[in-house]
Amino acid sequence: MKTDVCVIGGGPAGLGAVKSACENGAKVVLLEREYRLGGILNQCIHNGFGLHYFGEELTGPEFAQRLANDVVNSKAKIFLNSTVSKVEKKADKKMIVTAESPEGVLQIEAKCVVFSAGCREKPAAGINLCGTRPAGIFTAGAAQKLVNIHGKMVGKNIVILGSGDVGLIMARRLTCEGANVIGVYEIMPNCGGLARNVAQCIKDFNIPLHLSTSIVEVVGKKRVEGVYVAPVKPDFSFDLSKKEFIKCDTLLLSVGLLPETDLLNDFNLERSPVTNSYAVNEYYQTSVPEIFICGNVMHVNDLVDNVTNEGIHAGKCASQFAKGGVPCENKIEITHDSHIKYTVPKYVYRGSGELKISFRVDKEYRRVMVKAKSGGEVISQTPHPVVRAGEMEQIKLDKSKIKDDLEILLEVI
Ligand SMILES: Cc1cc2nc3c(=O)[nH]c(=O)nc-3n(C[C@H](O)[C@H](O)[C@H](O)COP(=O)(O)OP(=O)(O)OC[C@H]3O[C@@H](n4cnc5c(N)ncnc54)[C@H](O)[C@@H]3O)c2cc1C
Repeated sequence: MKTDVCVIGGGPAGLGAVKSACENGAKVVLLEREYRLGGILNQCIHNGFGLHYFGEELTGPEFAQRLANDVVNSKAKIFLNSTVSKVEKKADKKMIVTAESPEGVLQIEAKCVVFSAGCREKPAAGINLCGTRPAGIFTAGAAQKLVNIHGKMVGKNIVILGSGDVGLIMARRLTCEGANVIGVYEIMPNCGGLARNVAQCIKDFNIPLHLSTSIVEVVGKKRVEGVYVAPVKPDFSFDLSKKEFIKCDTLLLSVGLLPETDLLNDFNLERSPVTNSYAVNEYYQTSVPEIFICGNVMHVNDLVDNVTNEGIHAGKCASQFAKGGVPCENKIEITHDSHIKYTVPKYVYRGSGELKISFRVDKEYRRVMVKAKSGGEVISQTPHPVVRAGEMEQIKLDKSKIKDDLEILLEVI
């Protein structure tokens, strides 16, 4: 089957990409491995989604349904239960995407690909968790799926390691389902999740949050019987003289999300070490021009509204690419100071129009000015009352002011 744009993954990023690629006149194929569209949103049954994108507060499935309706009503060809197993580029620059589907093996020939496969959770092995491996250890997202989709409770007395958003949300969810959430333990001195989740999921439910504290040993033969926790010193070693045993039957891990990039490994794309994904230009195009990425596979986002907008942008640019190309003269690398961990995009081109730059900072700063400098001049400055490591920030620039360089700086005022 031949198409202009092949979108891989039908979560909010992929749905946004399909919608905008169709609206911009491209022929689109969407491949999704699950039996329904929406991605992770389907298991996020709490509210708080859509305030920016739809201007109202929705649950995850409601948000997903609205996006899916647009896509189902578009001209895109949608294949569900279809897992992409290979992405290749032929000598004539056409992309070949292979998927295992109920109709057999599908081969899609596309002018370009939008890769929106989301992210996966770091498991116990990913953080060198010491101790035994009894039943009762779940990643927070697996627990979310069991409770919200399958209606199965994961335990009674629960300890959560890591203060990522999924862990905070599950602390509240499991409390509402009658579990005793003993505490959330975070190795860093600051919380990994959004301030709003700390307030609504932890403080409102009186769940203890222990910063600079981690689990040093899991105990239990058949089922988790408890964990040893210890304070973390500034050099990140554990103060074992103060280690303490916490009796529990379940341990949830919320220790980070990793972009699902494996299918693109063979392309040797330019990587972005901080995001664990690939460097992109302002079109969310990787170093192979036929491959666009967006959503959590590009960098882990906090808000699904931003994910959707990224998909919309990638879909629009991919359709433009399929129709003849995107302007790519006078490439400029965006640099930044040490307070900023990375920017998306990493590269821009001189021209006109608006440029949106997303970034994360290394720790919390209060009363800051985010400045963009080019040609020795400040071309934009945006005040922020507070910026936090756990929250993605965005600035918008007028591209016509960019000269031969672009630097993003964070100044405390
Ligand atoms: C476990 C988990 C729980 C989360 N819970 C929350 C929450 O409660 N609240 C919140 O605000 N945010 C939550 N998030 C963040 C959330 O992931 C994002 O806001 C958003 O869903 C990301 O959208 P996406 O489209 O990039 O990825 P996803 O929603 O993950 O969608 C990716 C899609 O790609 C498909 N896919 C992957 N590989 C293939 C393949 N090889 N072939 C075909 N299809 C494929 C997947 O099936 C999926 O449908 C959670 C994230 C995770 C990982």
